[in-house]
Amino acid sequence: MPKEIAVPSRTKEILQKYDFSFKKSLGQNFLIDGNILKQIAGAALMGPNDGVIEIGAGIGALTEQLAKTVKQVESFELDGRLLPILDETLAPYPNVTVHHQDILQADIRQVIEEQMKDTDEVAVCGNLPYYVTTPIIMQLLEQRLPIKRIVVMIQKEVAERISASPGTKAYGSLSIAAQYYAEVKTVTIVPKTVFIPRPKVDSAVLQLNLRKEPPCQVDDEEFFFRVIKSSFAQRRKTLWNNLQHNLTGKDKKNILESALANADIDPQRRAETLSMEEFAKLSNHLLAGSF
Ligand code: SAM
Repeated sequence: MPKEIAVPSRTKEILQKYDFSFKKSLGQNFLIDGNILKQIAGAALMGPNDGVIEIGAGIGALTEQLAKTVKQVESFELDGRLLPILDETLAPYPNVTVHHQDILQADIRQVIEEQMKDTDEVAVCGNLPYYVTTPIIMQLLEQRLPIKRIVVMIQKEVAERISASPGTKAYGSLSIAAQYYAEVKTVTIVPKTVFIPRPKVDSAVLQLNLRKEPPCQVDDEEFFFRVIKSSFAQRRKTLWNNLQHNLTGKDKKNILESALANADIDPQRRAETLSMEEFAKLSNHLLAGSF
């Protein structure tokens, strides 16, 4: 049995054999620490009969750990130069299929419904390409896919924003959007030293457990998220100023005034002090006031 893919000497051997050059534009930072890979795979897994959709196979370091523990892995990789490498490194794992496709263009629902019928539950997992972290996560959440959880390695700073609580600097529309769809847990912080090439910043592994029910009553999700974005438009401004400036509609001053009063929210507060429930109440009252 060859050494695990992530063992630094094996990774270097593979890269040399194929004369592989990293593409920064594709967020290629490969993991060379077996313990961290096992920790990521462990956080994604539920049972031996489950399946995983992997985002960004690279040379297969995480794919290998996933393949060892679940029934089926469907892995997406955009860079065609990696396909012959993956053919070789993943040859011992017949339960892996590599899709040469951009994850943002892929029909993940169809893959789950048609190709993962024999698995119990499905998780999405990946050491994400950092240039598209947020779009990938939001797209996965908004699609309401039949998945149990998402486990991703991302930039530490983005992980902090996703998991932030009200009243903190990191709290914003991304925190509320992610936490509306999922319960967020930080699995571990990962130093930049365990990648080749080394990224500029540290990383974190997040586990997002998808909610079966929304955590609060929202009458119109699109409007709810619009109110949140408007409220955070300029963080230093008050809620009143941001909403006045960014929402449109007839008689908006009066509607705003009464919606804030009905939701029991002081207009002089800043958006970062409002909980998700307060945003829900506010947007429901604004809607009822016919915004
Ligand atoms: N999983 C490997 C590891 O942990 O070593 C590689 C992780 S590397 C951070 C991200 C990988 O995602 C790269 O192999 C890159 O080519 C691939 N990638 C970049 N953009 C992608 C996209 N839009 N869809 C699918 N894969 C993508």
